[in-house]
Amino acid sequence: MRQHALPAIALAAALLLGGCARTQEPASNQIFAMDTVMTLEIYGDGAQEQLNEAVGTIYRLEDLWDVTSEGSEVWALDHSAGDWVDLSPETADLLAQALELCALTGGALDLTAYPAVRAWGFTTGEYRVPSQEELDALVPLIDYTKLELEDGRARLPEGMELDLGAVAKGYTGAYLAQTLREGGVASALLSLGGNVQTVGAKPDGSPWRVAIQDPDSGQQATLGVVEVADQAVITSGGYQRYFEADGETYWHIMDPDTAAPARSGLRSVTVIGSDGTVCDALSTALFVMGAEEAAAFWQVHPELEVELVLVEEDGTVLITQGLEDSFQLTQEDRTLEVIAP
Ligand code: ADP
Ligand code: MG
Repeated sequence: MRQHALPAIALAAALLLGGCARTQEPASNQIFAMDTVMTLEIYGDGAQEQLNEAVGTIYRLEDLWDVTSEGSEVWALDHSAGDWVDLSPETADLLAQALELCALTGGALDLTAYPAVRAWGFTTGEYRVPSQEELDALVPLIDYTKLELEDGRARLPEGMELDLGAVAKGYTGAYLAQTLREGGVASALLSLGGNVQTVGAKPDGSPWRVAIQDPDSGQQATLGVVEVADQAVITSGGYQRYFEADGETYWHIMDPDTAAPARSGLRSVTVIGSDGTVCDALSTALFVMGAEEAAAFWQVHPELEVELVLVEEDGTVLITQGLEDSFQLTQEDRTLEVIAP
């Protein structure tokens, strides 16, 4: 069995293409948190102070949500044997938003998929292919509607478990962006391991140019570049965390209906929009749905104000119409198709 667990740092590494002259240097830092490499760049007066505060916030949120750490609120929920657990405001807020997105995506996003994630070994790196019998027994444990949330507390039936891996980094980016804006920061680039959050535009007023990774390249090549300001650019794919066994590839995004890695014909999904939590939730959910269902979902939800880049297994790249002017394909041998509203 070959094992791979690439930290999703490709986007972080490929950012800031073009090398435009900067009007000023950012305060910057690179840390390892939430199981990935994060790079923060904050511009303007007081940037260093804002940066220190942002790093503190990331570690604080990580401590709340680390599913494998006994002190976390998620761990408490997963081990409360059906009892109520008191939550910090941030956890209650994230759970409330995430539950809405579980419902909106018809359960393609399901926070309670964790028993499946664990059964395949993605929490420990001790990868294995569970038997069909084992998977059949896990499916009934995956049901976000059983998670109760009220007045700053939550409870989960005994035997069920949840994790926030599908939404935590997007929420963290959105949370940091809001704090920075309130603190007077006009320009920042936060790369939280494949989840990019921008604040404002670049200091010179031009948009950020964010690279989207080519899911078919082990070399972490760029598929394309999207220009954004004040938005999140969040990618989920079957190439970020996976293992191979008996000639099959198994990745960390689960289909809640089968408790097995989602095989929808997509290699990756990038979601671009102003709400990082929504983008992160959708990147996971639309990967589960597949291209056709994802396009239909986008068409019936214009209120979400997101744009998509979908990469199919045959290499075709689909973008939604709002990206026609801001997305540029850099892999020129690819077929590019536009999804109309
Ligand atoms: P990444 O964390 O690599 O950026 P995602 O945002 O797609 O990727 O989140 C994947 C993580 O979410 C998995 O590692 C797992 O913990 C959890 N997960 C897997 N499948 C689902 C699902 N269908 N719904 C909700 N969470 C999921
Ligand atoms: Mg996600």
